[in-house]
Amino acid sequence: MRYGNELKILIAGGGIAGLTIAATLEQRGMRAEIVERAKNYGGVGYVLGIWPAGLNVLNSLGLRSELERIGVRPGMYYAARPNGSALIQAKFGEFSAQYGDNFYLGRAELIDVLRKAVASPIHFGRFITGLRQSEQSVAVTFNDGTTAEYDAVIGADGLRSETRRLAFGEVPLTYHGVTGWAFWTGIDIGSETREIYGPGRFMGFYPSRERPCCFAAASAPRSAPDDAATRRGRLEAMFAGFPEWARAALNSSTDPTIWHDDFLDLRMSRWTNGRVALVGDAAHALLPSAGVGASMAIESAYVLADELSRAPSGRIPDALRRYEQRRRTRVDRVQRQSRQLMWMIRPRNPIVTGVRDSVMRMVPESAFLSMFKPLMESVV
Ligand SMILES: Cc1cc2nc3c(=O)[nH]c(=O)nc-3n(C[C@H](O)[C@H](O)[C@H](O)COP(=O)(O)OP(=O)(O)OC[C@H]3O[C@@H](n4cnc5c(N)ncnc54)[C@H](O)[C@@H]3O)c2cc1C
Repeated sequence: MRYGNELKILIAGGGIAGLTIAATLEQRGMRAEIVERAKNYGGVGYVLGIWPAGLNVLNSLGLRSELERIGVRPGMYYAARPNGSALIQAKFGEFSAQYGDNFYLGRAELIDVLRKAVASPIHFGRFITGLRQSEQSVAVTFNDGTTAEYDAVIGADGLRSETRRLAFGEVPLTYHGVTGWAFWTGIDIGSETREIYGPGRFMGFYPSRERPCCFAAASAPRSAPDDAATRRGRLEAMFAGFPEWARAALNSSTDPTIWHDDFLDLRMSRWTNGRVALVGDAAHALLPSAGVGASMAIESAYVLADELSRAPSGRIPDALRRYEQRRRTRVDRVQRQSRQLMWMIRPRNPIVTGVRDSVMRMVPESAFLSMFKPLMESVV
């Protein structure tokens, strides 16, 4: 029976969840091997809000001072209509001070910080092409034709996980009627968060140390054509009714390509199959509407590493099942909440958006902020 450092654990995906698992295992004297499909991390990405749910895990990995250095604590929150009339104003800073810190930071910066906590080898440009399980191990084939045996394989390879396809077959992603774009802007919003709700159109501006990030969204049919070469011009036309400063943000962006994807999420009845487990977006991708996918990925990664670190090789399938049991209720609840929040973004009918705007205007600040309370409680 092999334990701890003798276990051979492969993590597919060196993103937020994959690096968190590796760092947590290392804290417990173990080592994993990471394969990352990308050739390098690069500097691309968007802003992430990290909530106490994820932050407590990052703190436990000794990353607090780095997060203070690279993150911005949110201050005021403003939601308005495209004509500038206010819908909601809330003192997010005070709320965070009461319930727990949260930060906005760039995904690339968070990856840099997590990498500092990981000594396990990361093989870039490498990915799994075949998986075969026996009772004792998982035989893995890689894209370069090499093979190796592991006690456990963790799929932390994101929304369109290949590990998921290999271990569970095709699992459909659910489209929620909205498509989105993200880009870094040159405007100054300090530590404010600003969101603009139009009919079937949304723009949100989120701070980071370097520059704010804009996340724009529009209700649209699934996989509507969105040619990257003409994207900027189409966005300018699509958000023509939005305030001048918001459109200036689009013009100020120096991003060579504006990031784009549909709003998709994923619900699976199982995240584990024998010695293979999925984690983060690969297992439970959440809609960007609640901005909590990374925090949930970090929490799940921590629980998975916790269970793995206590299991001998023969009991790994039981450990992976325990991870799933410990996370299921929490993840389902937050996923439901992310889906409910789509009522703020999706409607395009002027009568429905009129009702939405009235509801938003009437919601007291305390009630609006209390929507975020589940995300402020850390469960690990
Ligand atoms: C625009 C936008 C804004 C968002 N804002 C927020 C926010 O404010 N707060 C928040 O908490 N969440 C946010 N999210 C969600 C968040 O980014 C994800 O939930 C989070 O990144 C999930 O982490 P992960 O490690 O599971 O996946 P990822 O971070 O996607 O990492 C997966 C890694 O696997 C690699 N990979 C892919 N395929 C393979 C393969 N076959 N083999 C090996 N490696 C592979 C990828 O290159 C990547 O490095 C946002 C998402 C989007 C799109």
